[in-house]
Amino acid sequence: MRVVAVLHTAGFAGFFAGGCVRDELLGRRPEDYDVATDATPERIVKLFDRTAEVGAHFGVVLVRDGQETTEVATFRTDGTYSDKRRPDSVRFSTAEEDAARRDFTVNALFLDPTGRTAGAAAPSGGTIIDYVGGTQDLAAKIIRAVGDADKRLAEDDLRSLRAARLAAKLGFEIEPGTAAAIRRHSAGLSGVSRERIGDEVRRMMGHESRATAARWMWELGLVAAALGCAAPAGECSTRHLAGLPAESGSTVAMAAWSLDLGFGHEGEGARKTAQGWRRALCLSNEEKDELQATLSELANLEKDWAGQSVAVQKRHAARGGFEAAMMLLEIRSPALAQDVRSKLGWLASFGGGIAPKPLVTGDHLIEMGMKPGPAFKRVLDGVYDAQLEGRVTNLREGLELARGFGVS
Ligand code: ATP
Ligand code: MG
Repeated sequence: MRVVAVLHTAGFAGFFAGGCVRDELLGRRPEDYDVATDATPERIVKLFDRTAEVGAHFGVVLVRDGQETTEVATFRTDGTYSDKRRPDSVRFSTAEEDAARRDFTVNALFLDPTGRTAGAAAPSGGTIIDYVGGTQDLAAKIIRAVGDADKRLAEDDLRSLRAARLAAKLGFEIEPGTAAAIRRHSAGLSGVSRERIGDEVRRMMGHESRATAARWMWELGLVAAALGCAAPAGECSTRHLAGLPAESGSTVAMAAWSLDLGFGHEGEGARKTAQGWRRALCLSNEEKDELQATLSELANLEKDWAGQSVAVQKRHAARGGFEAAMMLLEIRSPALAQDVRSKLGWLASFGGGIAPKPLVTGDHLIEMGMKPGPAFKRVLDGVYDAQLEGRVTNLREGLELARGFGVS
């Protein structure tokens, strides 16, 4: 509101724009507020104390006010997208043309919070400026491309993924003409940068509507191009995705989705799946490691856990990926998950718990005159196993055992 007021006082238009207007009108809390204006980036920078010109080239200036950052963007028309990432050029233009460059009608609404611009009254105050019929589509819960769907996808194929994500997140349908165009263009998604695809998929998987998003992707034929795999066949299952708690993170959701799609998790499967998804979605090292650990811990729980020693079970239980694997096991085999949970309760009851601080450390071994080397780790592991199993309960016993392993 303050950003808009400054623009108005200086004689410029200032509207809330895009996703925040859509969310306000739906009674949802917007994730962030974007402002659109006829002021050029040069003027915007002069009007506010704290600005950053992240995309001034594209007409976008970040305005900071206290803790808040608002994206203030000059009304613009996008040129062609020859690199499939961002428009080659932008031309500053009118609010109407700015609405026309946006992806879906429900994302192309403006809201003048001061109500000075002519338009329908918004429930939260102010007026709605609608050049593309977004108000009707919002009421009818429809995702519809602005203008000719085929052309809009040819400009930027990422819009197909955005349609799936938004339809899922909002609980909307995709207008049949738009959906048909997305199916026709599904292969085009392969040409979009892996970073952008990864960001959209991460946002889908991080949201409670993840199973619906996966279903849309299947129905629109987007799975193969997005994940860089063969087109999935048979019935679409979202059993694992739908079974996750609503607030789950995007990485465990990717693990769940990979199981729904029949990617491997046993043996080399976990590594291969994680590697493939890393490449397709430009995952970070941490995300890839977590995905792989989740899948391999799941395989361990299903195949080997029951026969493993106390120390090995505790070591697995302390590993990254174990909790996520348990969430998946609860969906796949509730009875087995129940067994593991009660075993974990028992494991936590002795030997200092599941992952106690080691009683004997490398420093102790050095004090005892041992030189760091391959034997070093074997001794530490052996003493720690004994601690986990409750055979060693204090430092004195630990050092004694270390001596028994040949350290004097
Ligand atoms: P969310 O609430 O999930 O963030 P959003 O619609 O706000 O959804 P953003 O990525 O934040 O999505 O984009 C903000 C606005 O920018 C959109 O509402 C839309 O008007 C426009 N936009 C974003 N990406 C595209 C695109 N690829 N093509 C055309 N317009 C886009
Ligand atoms: Mg947004």
